[in-house]
Amino acid sequence: MSIIQLDNLSVTIQNTPILSGVSLDISQGDFVGLAGPNGAGKSTLIRSILGLQPFTAETATLFDSPIRQFKDWHKVGYMPQKQTNKAKNFPATVAEFVLLGRLSTKHWPRIISAKDREAVNNQLTKLGIDHLANRPLSTLSGGQQQRAFLAKALVSNPELLILDEPTNALDPEIRSEFFEILQDLNQNHQVTIILITHDTGTIGQFANKLLFLDTKVLFWGDFQDFCADPSMSNYFGSSEQHHICHQHD
Ligand code: ADP
Repeated sequence: MSIIQLDNLSVTIQNTPILSGVSLDISQGDFVGLAGPNGAGKSTLIRSILGLQPFTAETATLFDSPIRQFKDWHKVGYMPQKQTNKAKNFPATVAEFVLLGRLSTKHWPRIISAKDREAVNNQLTKLGIDHLANRPLSTLSGGQQQRAFLAKALVSNPELLILDEPTNALDPEIRSEFFEILQDLNQNHQVTIILITHDTGTIGQFANKLLFLDTKVLFWGDFQDFCADPSMSNYFGSSEQHHICHQHD
């Protein structure tokens, strides 16, 4: 099943081209590493896919529906960047915060049901933070907060999960736990994942596809093909290419 299909997507903001001619096709079960320098347009692309950013395109579909008409937002879980700062002042418990993730499954009037509360409890248990359900979000450690954010993104059982630099602020041990959770979702539950990352040295351990952006697509395809592509060694230099490919067996 095609999860995302883009053909010639472009974004211009205040007469400045931010993205040009982006074409790609993401299939169910893909784990896509999205990399590129600061200002490359990574977040702009994600905002376009989420229907938050005006764009032009010959084709732009999500779950085979045009993005502009897409309504099944419960199929998409999104974890934006820099959540930790926001959490400092968020006046809610972990359970209340995660419950917000159920709202996308509802139409007006958005009434919380016992089923929603059960879904929250199940999600907290799956991620090993059920004992924190009644704690204010602001009192959690960085790693615990990250799990709460992931729980909110997952509580509507999305088929596509998009994460923007999720492990930036985490120490290495918590980071690898976080990746294990993502890998389990991807491999055992067929959740399609797009992960924006600066960490090109480790993304190859998890992702099967690489999208390298710099206002246009520099590379889109299988990791193995990136590693074997001489034009990529010309662009990145062979040592940087080796660094990206190094840990991908
Ligand atoms: P990345 O996520 O790869 O760092 P972004 O998508 O955030 O890149 O930004 C790409 C470029 O678009 C940057 O130069 C940024 O300044 C510009 N940009 C993004 N959103 C806006 C906006 N709303 N108004 C003006 N410029 C923007």
